[in-house]
Amino acid sequence: MPPPLLSSIIRLVIKMHEYSITESLLSLALEKASEARAGKITRINLVVGELAGVVGECVQFYFDAISQETIARGARLSFEMRPTKVRCQKCQTVFSPDGHDWSCPGCREMAVEIVSGRECFMESIEVE
Ligand SMILES: [Zn+2]
Repeated sequence: MPPPLLSSIIRLVIKMHEYSITESLLSLALEKASEARAGKITRINLVVGELAGVVGECVQFYFDAISQETIARGARLSFEMRPTKVRCQKCQTVFSPDGHDWSCPGCREMAVEIVSGRECFMESIEVE
């Protein structure tokens, strides 16, 4: 167990992480909506990797707060979760690690590179 001060710092860092993601998300969505001359953003579709460390509810919460005065007010955020995928450095097998076991199912090699799972991007927006 980390001491209380440390754990509150960690929580703060995680919140900042989601807050800054939400801010960039909102400004990107508004930019795209304005390019499309849309009057309202109704939905934003996001793709988030398991390893990105993004909590959907937090992002929606911040989004609702900072989008109040914009055309994205009331928009729903939809999260498509992408599983972690890694590639074995020895035999090139691509697999999804099972929990904390990151060894290759083919040759048991531990050296793997992450192929996907860290991504976090806006796939599309739905507008009116
Ligand atoms: Zn292997």
